[in-house]
Amino acid sequence: METKWVKSPEGTIDKVAMAEAGRIIRAGGLVAFPTETVYGLGGDALSPDSSRKIYAAKGRPSDNPLIVHICRVEDMARIVREVPPQAYVLAEHFWPGPLTMIMKKADIVPPETTGGLDTVAVRLPNHEVALEFIREAGGFVAAPSANVSGRPSPTLAKYVYEDMDGKIEMLLDGGEVGIGVESTIIDLTEEIPVILRPGYITWEMLQEVLGEVCLDPTMLEHDRPEAPKAPGMKYKHYAPQGELTIVSGTSQNVQNEIRRLLQNDREQGYKTGVIVSSDEAWVYEADAVKVTGEKEDMAAVARSLFRILREFDDEKIDRMYVQAFAQDGIGQAVMNRILKAAGHKIIEV
Ligand code: AMP
Ligand code: MG
Repeated sequence: METKWVKSPEGTIDKVAMAEAGRIIRAGGLVAFPTETVYGLGGDALSPDSSRKIYAAKGRPSDNPLIVHICRVEDMARIVREVPPQAYVLAEHFWPGPLTMIMKKADIVPPETTGGLDTVAVRLPNHEVALEFIREAGGFVAAPSANVSGRPSPTLAKYVYEDMDGKIEMLLDGGEVGIGVESTIIDLTEEIPVILRPGYITWEMLQEVLGEVCLDPTMLEHDRPEAPKAPGMKYKHYAPQGELTIVSGTSQNVQNEIRRLLQNDREQGYKTGVIVSSDEAWVYEADAVKVTGEKEDMAAVARSLFRILREFDDEKIDRMYVQAFAQDGIGQAVMNRILKAAGHKIIEV
């Protein structure tokens, strides 16, 4: 199959391409599309066959459910058994936006889409191209991130193409995405809502709107006995081909340790990389010094993290280092992704 790559300059919508993308989905095909978080790999959420194709294209285990993307709040009621009152409150505050809600599924959603669960994940993205595409596609688009399972989520169309060329009918290119980490997932099937995956909508923001909100304890630790409630969170994720290590401690200690590790690696002939803020870039000598943004700008780290991990792969970097970030606000999402990318390898200094 040939993958048609359609570029639409920022802020524009190619109506003809949108109509074609919609037809592809309604005919059971797959289209990758931009959202505000990362690129999604879309298929008809109400078709078992389309969902099977998504799993095949990603090489994703079929017990790992897909998120159903909608373009109007009122469509939520058609795919869930009953809309809990909190869902309307959250929709009012955070939709369109990077928040996914888990609710009991309605019968029209096939088990193929939900990985066999009786719940469904629903999101209304905040991206013009995504919304127009979902509308053209019939209103219910199942979409995981558009990467091969285990690789960093794509934040640029070229990385979707790298992973999906020949496996999907079309790629809608909307440029670089704005947020860069996947949506926050909140489970509304429990009495007290539970965050299953941290994202740009933070725990603090959700508590402000809902009152008490729990965190899935498996989210930030790796040695918990129980399995995470979002099946996808149990898999190794976002891994670059080289070895990423997190260094945690006071900033002086972290700098000293990373410099020592880099020098050691270079002496052994490894290609080295480091992820830093602009003010610290001068501190390190490495083959690839990747700057996220200004110091303590966690949104910039979130936005650039997956792109940087992909660039490390492009440049065949063997050993990479990053400092540990404070786990509050969006730092929680950033650390969750970095810990997974590093296979939880963390050095305390
Ligand atoms: P991705 O689309 O790649 O961001 O992955 C979707 C994430 O949503 C995975 O971690 C899934 O396990 C999670 N997810 C989707 N549906 C459900 C559900 N019904 N219950 C719990 N987690 C879900
Ligand atoms: Mg993913």
